[in-house]
Amino acid sequence: MDLSIKNLSKTYANGVQALNNVSLDISKGMFGLLGPNGAGKSTLMRTIATLQEPDQGSIKLGDIDVLQQKHEVRSVLGYLPQEFGVYPKVKPTDLLHHMAVLKGITNKGERKELIDGLLHRVNLYDFRKKAVSGYSGGMKQRFGIAQALLGNPQLIIVDEPTAGLDPGERNRFYNLLSEIGEHVVVILSTHIVQDVRQLCSKMAIINKGELIYDGKPDEAIDELRGIVWEKVIDKSEMARHEAEYNIISSRLISGRPLIHIISPDNPHKGFTKVEADLEDVFFTKVMGTEQLVSVLS
Ligand code: ADP
Ligand code: MG
Repeated sequence: MDLSIKNLSKTYANGVQALNNVSLDISKGMFGLLGPNGAGKSTLMRTIATLQEPDQGSIKLGDIDVLQQKHEVRSVLGYLPQEFGVYPKVKPTDLLHHMAVLKGITNKGERKELIDGLLHRVNLYDFRKKAVSGYSGGMKQRFGIAQALLGNPQLIIVDEPTAGLDPGERNRFYNLLSEIGEHVVVILSTHIVQDVRQLCSKMAIINKGELIYDGKPDEAIDELRGIVWEKVIDKSEMARHEAEYNIISSRLISGRPLIHIISPDNPHKGFTKVEADLEDVFFTKVMGTEQLVSVLS
């Protein structure tokens, strides 16, 4: 069941344009929606999940008109929102039974089998008698996935699921997601480049409500091959370098800025060429669009 988004726009009452004419086609597998905070990711996710209306545009999931046939969408959708709200002091099994009933799974025996299976799958079976409110961040996210998987969804939307997880939890969560992505459409929204690099064969980058890249991570990296250079400088040299080069990112290494620049030719002056990675793509697309056009053209 493919998802087709066409010319989606949304401006909130306060005048913020969260989506500006976004079109995307998404098929089976893990799709990464990458963008900085405030890019419009959650707005897009909530709109696909039928929780809010766009001003313009259309969304089709297979033959379902998402904006019209909300009930049909909800019956094939699994959704893990960015803010899952307050976790009640109840056992995961009770919560999942409640949610399964809402999804229309009324047979108790069937429900129990399904829920036990899900708890095993997300590795929470041994903790099924512990209140969800006492779970760690990673356990809460895995519980969130379990509830999203109820009722065999064809489309799964997970909004910033790895924010706040420690590296071990993040890896376990990656494994779980990639397994799920083999069978259905999974849309993962994130501001963490590594999430997309490790999980997604297709991705889009959005910034300020606009789609600025749609394609394969590898192809985006290829576009930067041979033109990314790095150098560690002193903080006092930052302004001069900013004026002189197209800096796409800077981060501190042992307290000193390591800058990445884009340059088609060897800039010399202590720069070394680096293998471009998805982080460079992200920063180039998000930060440096205007400057970059002038460098590459
Ligand atoms: P992201 O999930 O990528 O961080 P959001 O979709 O949450 O982005 O937000 C996009 C923009 O819309 C931001 O500028 C945000 O402040 C604004 N925004 C989000 N929700 C609302 C709302 N309910 N009312 C007004 N502005 C909103
Ligand atoms: Mg968000």
